[in-house]
Amino acid sequence: MDMKVQIAGARLARQVMSTPPLSGLRNAETTPRCLVPDNASDEEWKTWVFRTFNPVSHPIGTCAMMRQDMGGVVDGKLKLYGAKNVRIVDASVMPTQVSAHLSSTLYGIAEKVADMIKAGL
Ligand SMILES: Cc1cc2nc3c(=O)[nH]c(=O)nc-3n(C[C@H](O)[C@H](O)[C@H](O)COP(=O)(O)OP(=O)(O)OC[C@H]3O[C@@H](n4cnc5c(N)ncnc54)[C@H](O)[C@@H]3O)c2cc1C
Repeated sequence: MDMKVQIAGARLARQVMSTPPLSGLRNAETTPRCLVPDNASDEEWKTWVFRTFNPVSHPIGTCAMMRQDMGGVVDGKLKLYGAKNVRIVDASVMPTQVSAHLSSTLYGIAEKVADMIKAGL
């Protein structure tokens, strides 16, 4: 899913920048123009994404809140599957990126789980 979103986002960015009025305000595309032509396949985009992208100090998802049969590690109360009462409350539980920067989202997650703990959930 991450790769599909990256490819769709990159294609959309090119389309937006190639459409008036923005197209009249920029110089020629420098990257990834020479590596990824307009008619590029998903595989060509994928190669460019793998070579170029990094998480820019905002890694997430290694203990994703998700159903266990889908690869999740914690449930909706952030309790670890298979353990009695262990919670994970950090950026690792975010299954997908909600914005480029994580801190404000993490404060929200922490507040919500603090309320759950106080309520005995
Ligand atoms: C260079 C950089 C710039 C960033 N800029 C921004 C920004 O501008 N805006 C923004 O919103 N986000 C930014 N982020 C992202 C944000 O800082 C992180 O996503 C966020 O801090 C992650 O929070 P966390 O609680 O998951 O982990 P962390 O903040 O990394 O907290 C983990 C804590 O666990 C402690 N710890 C680790 N192992 C153990 C252990 N075994 N026992 C006890 N304690 C342990 C660590 O010491 C640490 O205090 C930036 C990140 C980096 C690296």
